[in-house]
Amino acid sequence: MEPTLFSKIIDREISADIVYEDEHVLAFNDINPQAPTHVLIIPKKPIATLNDIGESDLALVGRLTYTAAKLAKQFGFAEDGYRVVMNCNEHGGQSVYHIHMHLLGGRRMQWPPG
Ligand code: AMP
Repeated sequence: MEPTLFSKIIDREISADIVYEDEHVLAFNDINPQAPTHVLIIPKKPIATLNDIGESDLALVGRLTYTAAKLAKQFGFAEDGYRVVMNCNEHGGQSVYHIHMHLLGGRRMQWPPG
């Protein structure tokens, strides 16, 4: 897999506004925010799409969700509510081929998402 923009952010070749990091996961503010808080949570392991997640990645993917909830509490909108989104491939609107969870909060969300 070619290094993506997000691998370059992990490797600090490209700067980002990092809000959380641990051994497995990195989270940083989206450059084009769609809500008052819009954070991208990514695994450090490069996995191109949701379709490429294997059995051995299940704990890692769970960690993305766990991190989203932890950050929502930290940002103070966990009780009001928030949205997490993972886009897959062209029809899903995926533009960076390194899986990422969008955490959107700080406003009321609409449904359907369009
Ligand atoms: P997706 O369209 O689901 O693949 O999401 C990719 C996201 O990455 C978009 O919301 C972009 O705004 C965001 N993005 C692109 N480049 C950067 C960057 N350099 N730093 C932070 N977020 C970025």
